[in-house]
Amino acid sequence: MPNQAKTWSKLNKTAYRGRFAPSPTGDLHLGSLVAAIASYCQARANDGAWLLRIEDIDETRTVPGTDQAIIQTLLKFGMEPDEPIIYQTDELRQSNYQAVLQQLTEQNLTYPCVCTRKKLAGLNVYPGYCRDQKIDTSLLHSIRLKTASQEFKFNDLWQGLQTQNMAMQSGDFNIKRKDGLFCYQLAVVVDDAAQGITEVVRGIDIMDSTSRQMYLIDLLGLHQPNYAHFPVITKNGSKLSKQNHAKPITNEDPYTTTHLALQLLQQEPPNLQQKTQSNLINWASKHWQPERLRHLSEINY
Ligand code: GLU
Repeated sequence: MPNQAKTWSKLNKTAYRGRFAPSPTGDLHLGSLVAAIASYCQARANDGAWLLRIEDIDETRTVPGTDQAIIQTLLKFGMEPDEPIIYQTDELRQSNYQAVLQQLTEQNLTYPCVCTRKKLAGLNVYPGYCRDQKIDTSLLHSIRLKTASQEFKFNDLWQGLQTQNMAMQSGDFNIKRKDGLFCYQLAVVVDDAAQGITEVVRGIDIMDSTSRQMYLIDLLGLHQPNYAHFPVITKNGSKLSKQNHAKPITNEDPYTTTHLALQLLQQEPPNLQQKTQSNLINWASKHWQPERLRHLSEINY
């Protein structure tokens, strides 16, 4: 009987599916390793699948070879994705983005925009200059999505209840760039849906994108995932990032590096007797205590 009860409860629970979605713009650094480990442990602790998506949508920022370097590092650190890795530049992904763009355009939710960077300098919110204009589409133009003043609320696992309004954050936002590349906001929504992601685990620095993504998800009639934005890792007051030249992590001593990443994630990892990477990553998945990150927006390294 107990077995039957267990099967029943599992059948009724939506299977957890999480992901790590790095952009191949450089090697993994400590901040991005923390993101990988947080999403991995959160998936494993929920008996879920952990997927890897290479977010190479912005081809102008891709550094050739870094996708493979990222994959090799993750494997070396004992994190193996459960399904084939997907790339945003794949033809299938691109045709999905195109189909979504067409659907939104047919619903009269998009418009061409010829505003230059110079014209928009210093503005955080797009003032809608091109929204009701007759635009000559033979000119180089981006495609924007029409938005309205609307509040989006979500209960972030770590940051608590959030309220965002695009009218104050972005206004009508680009979904396709002037150079023809699709934008992150559109691609991430289409891909998370295609991969059946149930919880988005990522850094707090992307949290203000969430309302734009929730809006797109609603427009497309997709299922809203849960959100979990972990604190940003800072050093001497500034974010550890590729832009700040954070040192790439080496594959030489995954145990020590993972130990440090777990400390940053407030997990208090023990000194295991058998210091192997697989023992440590298994320990982290089994003893994962996400509540320790609650309401932390910054962790100083
Ligand atoms: N590709 C983004 C990055 O590397 C992550 C986007 C996301 O997780 O939604 O920062």
